[in-house]
Amino acid sequence: MNMSAPTQFIGQGLRGELRHDVAMSRHTSWRAGGVAQRMYRPADLADLQLFLRLLPEDELLVAIGLGSNLLVRDGGLRGTVLLMHGALNEMHMDGDHVYAQAGVPGAKLARFAAANDLHGAGFFAGIPGTLGGMLAMNAGCYGSETWDKVVRAQVLTRNGELQLRTPQDYQVSYRHASRVRDSECGIEDAVEQEFFAGAWLRFNQGEGDVAKQDIKALLEKRSASQPLHLPNAGSVFRNPQGDHAARLIESCGLKGLRIGGAQVSQKHANFIVNIANASATDIENLMLQVRATVAEKTGVQLQPEVKIIGEKLA
Ligand SMILES: Cc1cc2nc3c(=O)[nH]c(=O)nc-3n(C[C@H](O)[C@H](O)[C@H](O)COP(=O)(O)OP(=O)(O)OC[C@H]3O[C@@H](n4cnc5c(N)ncnc54)[C@H](O)[C@@H]3O)c2cc1C
Repeated sequence: MNMSAPTQFIGQGLRGELRHDVAMSRHTSWRAGGVAQRMYRPADLADLQLFLRLLPEDELLVAIGLGSNLLVRDGGLRGTVLLMHGALNEMHMDGDHVYAQAGVPGAKLARFAAANDLHGAGFFAGIPGTLGGMLAMNAGCYGSETWDKVVRAQVLTRNGELQLRTPQDYQVSYRHASRVRDSECGIEDAVEQEFFAGAWLRFNQGEGDVAKQDIKALLEKRSASQPLHLPNAGSVFRNPQGDHAARLIESCGLKGLRIGGAQVSQKHANFIVNIANASATDIENLMLQVRATVAEKTGVQLQPEVKIIGEKLA
């Protein structure tokens, strides 16, 4: 992999780090995928605002957190990846609410809330993503979802302006959140790109010690049921209404099915694990095969939960 040395922006007041030809396998939990043309890790929120202001209007942009729900195809990504993790890290109490920036990982958020004698944030500990990714996905587990907790969201427009949004500005459903441009007509915003910069979250007061115990129990439960020792991206397919993708996949005898270095996990059928330097193509082909088999044998069309981006290899 030809990865050029990091180049520091100079002269324009930027303080972040711009790199070229970045292997996305280093920034996704599947440890697979192509190369991004450029990646910018801002120094902080103000730096990201300046970067966006300076950027040419036609530059393609994608924001990522921990890449824990992401497959970047082997042909790579054109444009610039904005890396929020390790960059937008601020978190503090703001009155009764927790304010956290988009790059804060779920585990840190859960622990911070418990340390401030709040409960109801424990589920974030089981989701190995950032707050930005969890807002984008409406991530959740054990009956709680990210947007249940949001009081206000802070977003960055494509040209670096900071704006506040309320939960009513979004259409939120299972593993989905998108901007409502015209709430009367319910038209989703497909035109204006914006990124989550942070959010104010509301949790229940008290029982911080119980919350700490809950986090411990949740993590133990997860490591007993998920193949966390191998690179994966959590649940690959969304659960169809009233059923579980894992149950359907297992009922079709697909556990252990392998294409190249990608395998349907023996431990959890809705996980695909990277067992031997899988390419993104291996993973995507395995997803297609699982989907086709489940459709043929059960009539259910599974929908991917993971986001697939980038170009196919020519
Ligand atoms: C072991 C394991 C267990 C998991 N368990 C769960 C679970 O229980 N529940 C669950 O819901 N998910 C689960 N996931 C999936 C994943 O952790 C979540 O979807 C998480 O929200 C992704 O966060 P991320 O920061 O890694 O986002 P990424 O994977 O980096 O990005 C995901 C999507 O969000 C967008 N995005 C990221 N940051 C921003 C931003 N700041 N602004 C706008 N868009 C942004 C990206 O462009 C992309 O479309 C699991 C994953 C793993 C590996």
